[in-house]
Amino acid sequence: MPRYAILTWGCQMNEEDSEQMGLYLQERGYEPTDRLEEADVVLLNTCSVRRKPEDKVFSTLGQLRKLKERKPSMVIGVCGCMAQLRAQEIKQRAPHVDMVIGTAHVSQVGALLEEVIQKRRFALRLELPERKGAIVTDIPQRKVDRKPKLKAFVPIQYGCDKFCTFCIVPTTRGRERSRPTVDIVEEIKLLAERGTKEVTLLGQTVNSYGKNLLEGRVPFARLLKLINDIEGIERIRFTSPYPRDFRNDLIEAIASLPKVMEQVHLPLQSGDDEVLKAMRRLYTVEQFEEVVRKLRERVHGIAITTDIIVGFPGETDEQFENTLRVVERVRFDGAFMFAYSPRPGTPAAEMENQVPREVKQERLERLIDLQNRISCEINSELVGKVFEVLVEGPSQKDPTKMAGFTRENKMMHFVGSPDLVGRLVKVRADEAHLWGFYGTVVG
Ligand code: SF4
Repeated sequence: MPRYAILTWGCQMNEEDSEQMGLYLQERGYEPTDRLEEADVVLLNTCSVRRKPEDKVFSTLGQLRKLKERKPSMVIGVCGCMAQLRAQEIKQRAPHVDMVIGTAHVSQVGALLEEVIQKRRFALRLELPERKGAIVTDIPQRKVDRKPKLKAFVPIQYGCDKFCTFCIVPTTRGRERSRPTVDIVEEIKLLAERGTKEVTLLGQTVNSYGKNLLEGRVPFARLLKLINDIEGIERIRFTSPYPRDFRNDLIEAIASLPKVMEQVHLPLQSGDDEVLKAMRRLYTVEQFEEVVRKLRERVHGIAITTDIIVGFPGETDEQFENTLRVVERVRFDGAFMFAYSPRPGTPAAEMENQVPREVKQERLERLIDLQNRISCEINSELVGKVFEVLVEGPSQKDPTKMAGFTRENKMMHFVGSPDLVGRLVKVRADEAHLWGFYGTVVG
């Protein structure tokens, strides 16, 4: 049987796309392998959000050139955001690449592979779906993995309309398109039948779901309700919502739907209004904090995490201090924190007032220190509390223990037998760490 390997960089959407491409290749008789040297097809599913993964793709392509010299029949494909953005450069710098597949052509991977093998020519697909008027109908059909999966990601929306000045996603993934509600519900029913207990709904601005559907507007809160009603599904998460679009009906849905977890990842990006404006984030710090306040008021014990960028062009010391102040005030449970990385093709990369690298690094270290202290404090305050944990399997840190996540998405390690996998158990937190807890099963 021919074999394929897929290397994936970037976000959960890319992980999802890689899985889809794998399923399409399996349909054509390919089987997966982790060993590049025995693969007949190697796909690099790339990310353009930061520079480092892009560099890594070119160095991996260098290694693959040597493998292909030994095995000329090997087909090498580049997909994902970098493929969308830098196809010509990839072709020039790595002429041994056989196909470049844009973000909207995941489902065509099999057909493109055929084109390369049979016609022995370079294959390229980059077109992004145009949005004619408000409605988009050419949303790709998705395959559902036959293998049972305890947790599954389900894309519900593609692309983005927000155009933050630092972000390349609207260029690489196109305008915002929502999947039809009926398709999402059917997919999740199928997943539930195959044993999935937890779904995470994916979208770049997931809470703006449902604006441009053929069947009319379907608010995100309504979609959550429909999924909450699916038998077999125990937990629903979603990422990432956009703060301005976090409306009261969504807060009420989280508060009232028992399967929607008490956890929200709400990207702040900066704690200074001027910087937010320069980023073209369409909210103020006050509006962001208002959403947090309402969430905490309505959803008892909710965990809130965030994304923060430091050293955005023009960010002054005082503006950075404002971010630290917001972090102190809000007390996030956790955060993904980055130093600003200019992305060619975005407005922010052209801004003249770029912050020196050492300054960005120093700010990042200060922010990480602060956030880590807060995360540890919050977790320490939760010692003694009993959490509901979905047991996933042996812990990677310590294989003598089992691991799973709480409803608040905090990791829990505990002594337990493997037959707990897939079950919801009550675990008391005994010892707090930055990453979560060690605990004891109490029921
Ligand atoms: S909301 Fe902003 S940061 Fe998020 S994907 Fe859209 S443009 Fe990028």
